[in-house]
Amino acid sequence: MIVLMLGAPGVGKGTQADLLQKEKNIPHLSTGAMLRNAIEIQSPTGIIAAEYVNSGRLVPDSVVTALVKESLESEAFANGCILDGYPRNSSQATELDDILQKLGRKIQVVINIFVPEETIVKRMLERGRKDDTEDVIRHRLVVYRNETAPLLDYYGQQGKVVTIDGDNTVHSVFGKIQDVLSA
Ligand code: ADP
Repeated sequence: MIVLMLGAPGVGKGTQADLLQKEKNIPHLSTGAMLRNAIEIQSPTGIIAAEYVNSGRLVPDSVVTALVKESLESEAFANGCILDGYPRNSSQATELDDILQKLGRKIQVVINIFVPEETIVKRMLERGRKDDTEDVIRHRLVVYRNETAPLLDYYGQQGKVVTIDGDNTVHSVFGKIQDVLSA
């Protein structure tokens, strides 16, 4: 099963994807986590990605798509995947379709977690990651609105989107996600 997590930065996609990974034994593929790791170990990808991630801009599509493609083609993700942080714009969505089509696989469900923006900003300031300063957060929200949110229409037209209220406890949001997946 391929589950796509959508929603603005800070809505809790990563937290929920981790819980889902444990519960369902489906591996979590987070481009944000992969990029942060690449930056930390200063790999060639990390060296390119650092300035984008730290300023809240999207890392070039070709860089991120290469990471995702390599993962999805690997044995570790052969039985399923929880995709978190990719695709983030329409060209990445097209690339993903292409990768999945070649693998003979498809996305079963898109989980859209919704949280009001002011709550998001508060949460991220508390989290305090390096890219969680107020200016960078605001910029990521603009990028989300302009580039990522339109994907809700793209997947909505395919009847795949389920929207979940994320302004609730981690446990209760997870309960709702489990309900969706068992439906
Ligand atoms: P958040 O959703 O809280 O912004 P992520 O961990 O998903 O956190 O992403 C952190 C940063 O990593 C993004 O702001 C962006 O710079 C980069 N990034 C992650 N995924 C992608 C992607 N699919 N395309 C381009 N850049 C990405």
